[in-house]
Amino acid sequence: MTDTTEFRDLTTLKVGGTILDFREPATRSDLIETFRDVSSGREPWFLLGGGSNIVVADKPFDGTVIRISTRGIDREIDGDRVLVTAQAGEPWDELVEWAVANRLEGLEALSGIPGTVGAAPIQNIGAYGAELADTFHSLQFVPPGRGDIVTLRPDALNFGYRQSSLKDGLNGLVVSVTIALNPSETSAPIQFEQLASALGAKQGESVAISDIRRAVLELRASKGMVINSDPDSVSVGSFFTNPVVTDQFSRQLPADAPRFPLDAERTQRVVPLGIEPEFVDYDTVSRGVKLSAAWLIERAGIGKGFALSGSNAALSSKHTLAIINRGGATANQVLELARFITIRVHDTFGIMLEPEPTMIGFD
Ligand SMILES: Cc1cc2nc3c(=O)[nH]c(=O)nc-3n(C[C@H](O)[C@H](O)[C@H](O)COP(=O)(O)OP(=O)(O)OC[C@H]3O[C@@H](n4cnc5c(N)ncnc54)[C@H](O)[C@@H]3O)c2cc1C
Repeated sequence: MTDTTEFRDLTTLKVGGTILDFREPATRSDLIETFRDVSSGREPWFLLGGGSNIVVADKPFDGTVIRISTRGIDREIDGDRVLVTAQAGEPWDELVEWAVANRLEGLEALSGIPGTVGAAPIQNIGAYGAELADTFHSLQFVPPGRGDIVTLRPDALNFGYRQSSLKDGLNGLVVSVTIALNPSETSAPIQFEQLASALGAKQGESVAISDIRRAVLELRASKGMVINSDPDSVSVGSFFTNPVVTDQFSRQLPADAPRFPLDAERTQRVVPLGIEPEFVDYDTVSRGVKLSAAWLIERAGIGKGFALSGSNAALSSKHTLAIINRGGATANQVLELARFITIRVHDTFGIMLEPEPTMIGFD
């Protein structure tokens, strides 16, 4: 490839400097070999999918970027489930569309999320009460250097809310992802209230998976959360994750602050064999309360469409969680706005918002 490839042309936020060495291997074996070569050297490297969850600095990226565009979807029957394996460069939403068209239930609530299959496990993508971890089976992975392909299962990946070991230090190439789906045209009970009401259904009801996909795509489009010609979609989606705080801390917030208690972890106490337990005893350890970052931002006085003076970065006019590029914004302008929001929310509520996208090339 030429040496004038720009990150701003390969990312949904449209910021980021020149890439000095850009590669886009055509096949799965080329991808693995390229990754092994590049990651055995001393130069910095970066794996790029759809560029929908990264903020890249304006200065040149002084290393190699490997863009992943390997395609292919295979399926295999496994008892009463269907195991579907997609190559890392497969666009995520095309996989969801394929699953719904093939009457395979499990991914429909994740319709419309931009990016590639290979990036989906990195932050355990999620929306509308579902997340990748719900259907994830395994992935094929190559560690940096000359390592072999290994299969990683959920226990190696520590999936959490917008989190996994892959985001938290386990570096390497995701070659393909396998998910386990149910052969069914009907959804599991709908968990998410907003989705249920968009479908005219009740929480806990099941509907056709094709209806879920349609409703999710409509809801997402109304918030600028699908990539299309809407100027509010020139973003990385949510810029901040919803903070998780202790029960005690959440009680100090105003009464109308949205709170989503995370399930308590239940650990059964071990009773030695042969000893009659007096009562069934559980330790319950609260995992905390998830707050709404959008609510915190709005209540800190920063509304939809907000921009700092002279900046081309702004909040989306539809959603306070998305920072958009209104045209010609620099990565520095995006970061300035993100910092401003973080400080205002911290000063107002004592809560530090964390960015959701990966930051690349900033000092
Ligand atoms: C409009 C919009 C809406 C969004 N909505 C949601 C949402 O509802 N829920 C949600 O969870 N996210 C959402 N996102 C964020 C984003 O779409 C997801 O995080 C997506 O999985 C990123 O995929 P990507 O291919 O674009 O990854 P990139 O942005 O290219 O990369 C993200 C990270 O993954 C790494 N990576 C990419 N591919 C591989 C690979 N094959 N192996 C190893 N590492 C890899 C990169 O190095 C980088 O660290 C949204 C983004 C946008 C722009």
